[in-house]
Amino acid sequence: ARAQAMQVDTRPQVSYGDIGGIDDQIREVREAVELPLLDPERFDTVGIEPPTGVLLHGPPGTGKTMLAKAVANGTDATFIKMAGSELVRKFIGEGARLVRDLFELANEHEPAVIFIDELDAVAAKRTDSKTSGDAEVQRTMMQLLNEMDGFDERGDVSIIAATNRFDMLDPAILRPGRFDRLIEVPEPDAEGREQIFQIHTRGTTLADDVDFEELAELTAGRSGAEIESLATEAGMFAIRDDRTEVRMADFEAALEKITDEDTAAEPIAF
Ligand code: ATP
Repeated sequence: ARAQAMQVDTRPQVSYGDIGGIDDQIREVREAVELPLLDPERFDTVGIEPPTGVLLHGPPGTGKTMLAKAVANGTDATFIKMAGSELVRKFIGEGARLVRDLFELANEHEPAVIFIDELDAVAAKRTDSKTSGDAEVQRTMMQLLNEMDGFDERGDVSIIAATNRFDMLDPAILRPGRFDRLIEVPEPDAEGREQIFQIHTRGTTLADDVDFEELAELTAGRSGAEIESLATEAGMFAIRDDRTEVRMADFEAALEKITDEDTAAEPIAF
């Protein structure tokens, strides 16, 4: 059961160069995670504690998971992922157990990066309802806090979490010694979108008329994940047309297609 809920990757393949448009965030994460691992004396000398946990927050598909994987890669650490939603879909007592197992597993794999996705699922603000489900989620969160509070003796294990719902988090989880380094990962700006187009077409045969600057303008409000699927979809148009090169028109058709899908997916107003 433990293997199912946790995903272990001893050699994550993502590197910083694969992530577009969030250079400041990359720098901040490296400072918070890499520096204490690679050069702990710098913190001792200055006399400050390195951050305990890093929380990445921002809209879906902006590169939070990639960032955590790249840090693991950059420190030759094992990447251990756990989805917050997995922790709460369990029998009584099992969520807390999984949290214990997670940290134990990380200890066995030192150096390791623990990545908890959808942190809000386990660490939402207390609601008024006193249902047993809520109490169980609460126990799971307490176990997580316990593990983090005992972090000093833990050695080469870093902890990174991500959420799309920062507003929902219980402030208790953000206290010093817990997730005490907050990094916002926003939707990419035009320059970022251009970079992400370049990254996701590295292996693509492109016609001369493909203009990423213009595509970046046309994709305001789109995430990295959406740009990735646009690039794939554009390639599909070329294949259907029996061409070996992907043209600007293919990107435009792909964009039109996902825009139509967005409209179709919008809820009907009554
Ligand atoms: P979620 O909050 O939904 O879990 P996330 O922020 O963790 O999303 P990722 O899983 O890192 O997003 O990104 C999903 C995919 O989208 C990546 O595998 C990558 O291909 C693409 N992608 C997202 N952001 C970027 C980016 N900044 N640069 C390059 N590719 C990106």
